[in-house]
Amino acid sequence: MKCQRCPKSAVIYQKYSNAHLCRSHFIEDVERKIKRDIRKFRMIGRGEKIAVALSGGKDSIALLYILHKIFKDRPDLEITALTIDEGIKGYRENTLSHAIKLTNELGIAHTIRSFDDVFGTTMDDLVNKKEHAACTLCGVLRKNILNKAARELGADKLAIGHNLDDESQTILMNYMRGDIDRLKRMLPGLIQPGMIPRIKPLRSVPEKEVALYGFLNDLPVSMDECPYAGDALRNEIREMINNYEVKHPGTKYSLLGGFETISEMLRPNVTEIFKCDKCGEPSSENVCKTCRLLGRT
Ligand SMILES: [Zn+2]
Ligand SMILES: [Zn+2]
Repeated sequence: MKCQRCPKSAVIYQKYSNAHLCRSHFIEDVERKIKRDIRKFRMIGRGEKIAVALSGGKDSIALLYILHKIFKDRPDLEITALTIDEGIKGYRENTLSHAIKLTNELGIAHTIRSFDDVFGTTMDDLVNKKEHAACTLCGVLRKNILNKAARELGADKLAIGHNLDDESQTILMNYMRGDIDRLKRMLPGLIQPGMIPRIKPLRSVPEKEVALYGFLNDLPVSMDECPYAGDALRNEIREMINNYEVKHPGTKYSLLGGFETISEMLRPNVTEIFKCDKCGEPSSENVCKTCRLLGRT
């Protein structure tokens, strides 16, 4: 098949937009979506320092590469990378080496923090205790360190590699639970004292396209999957949305667009925020989730 914008052959068929695109027009299309969202949601402002959460997986690798590509000629902006080592044997080593390789190639400062340094324990040890689900532990603790480290680095924004698939799954899960508070926290531009505002520049790019973008740009790709089983509900929702997307191309964009439509009704996007009694970090309750999961009560 030929690219619909030039005579070259296509590398992808986007069913949702009925477009065949060659390598360079596909790359242009991905970057156009990202630049459009950065502008539309005012994700990045003049003179800001952006900390990029770099797990070393394909999404965060692509995110760092793209942000560097878009903003390398903007001397007022500073991009820095932040990796959390959860302490998961046989999984972390590879992704960590990819993260180090890319930051070296791009000449980007790189901070690595481990669960062990910050909490004195590793994911492997915590999961062995069998008190909490692995994904809950990992998600809460990683978010805690990312926020703290981004604040210490003096970052204005924390960029996260969530793609269209992640976002549409989260939206549907929050709808199902009627979790208004979590929906509010997904709104771009949310201000919470002590929390570095999070931005998601890849939110309009489907997961498959993030992977293809990385492949076409020779970015380090890790095929390793986390050894812990994953959130069971999210796995089912992922499968359901993917099946639906096959039958009704554009479903993922519909979920995102539908959320934007109702999001005005969720404003003012203020959620109550306290300081944790135990550790002083921002929390929606008196004792934060991190302290509760670590048994600091
Ligand atoms: Zn083309
Ligand atoms: Zn706490």
